[in-house]
Amino acid sequence: MRTPLIAGNFKMNMDIASARNYARKFKELVDTKYDVLVCAPYLQLETLISEFYGKVMVGAQNVHFEDSGAFTGEISAPMLKEIGVSHCIVGHSERRQYFGETDEAIAKKLPKLFENGIVPILCVGESLEERNAGKEKDIVSHQVKADLVNLDEEQVKKMVIAYEPIWAIGTGLTATKEQAQEMCKLIRDTVSSLYGKAASEDILIQYGGSAKPENIKEIMSMEDIDGALVGGASLDPDKFNKMLDF
Ligand code: 13P
Repeated sequence: MRTPLIAGNFKMNMDIASARNYARKFKELVDTKYDVLVCAPYLQLETLISEFYGKVMVGAQNVHFEDSGAFTGEISAPMLKEIGVSHCIVGHSERRQYFGETDEAIAKKLPKLFENGIVPILCVGESLEERNAGKEKDIVSHQVKADLVNLDEEQVKKMVIAYEPIWAIGTGLTATKEQAQEMCKLIRDTVSSLYGKAASEDILIQYGGSAKPENIKEIMSMEDIDGALVGGASLDPDKFNKMLDF
């Protein structure tokens, strides 16, 4: 049985004081049988972890694939482990698009996170041009294959993949529930062909892209969608809490 995971992605928003206020308010509201996570900028992680005190999980938004060294401005998986993050987003489309993150780099990050007991949330998804050209399935299955290449079946079973069509991120456009289901099933089938049926049945697959209280029910009604990765709507604790009711 897969337990749904609703995850917020704060992106580059909030400061430490507002994250503290957020956590104080959100932890009073949260009452759910689902798993809940917020992925925040590095500087806010410790505050969130201590305020949530285990009630809500806390994740990072990126990691470097080396443990330490001359990589100015980067943060490693052992550093994230030290402060107690449970998850880390990897390969978000904004990182692929604006910071030139490649499938090769992403593939090196995933086993590093597992080595440090952190669950990766791998983001995949096509652009509007790719969808209009009918290439969305090729693009996404290629990303899954290329990014998972350094993992074994046991690791894949425990991870999360978020299908985030780039055209739906921050645009107010949401994939229809049929489009989201079709792509999440494609991801599950790709995992099955690479790592076997058991891995494909255990892996969590989320949808992300303008997910909000108004559409969470229909997103979560689909068979292959096990949760959501929520940007804008996760920044307001009341709104985000409403997304735990589906
Ligand atoms: P929005 O929910 O703001 O569209 O962002 C989605 C996203 O990129 C989550 O990682």
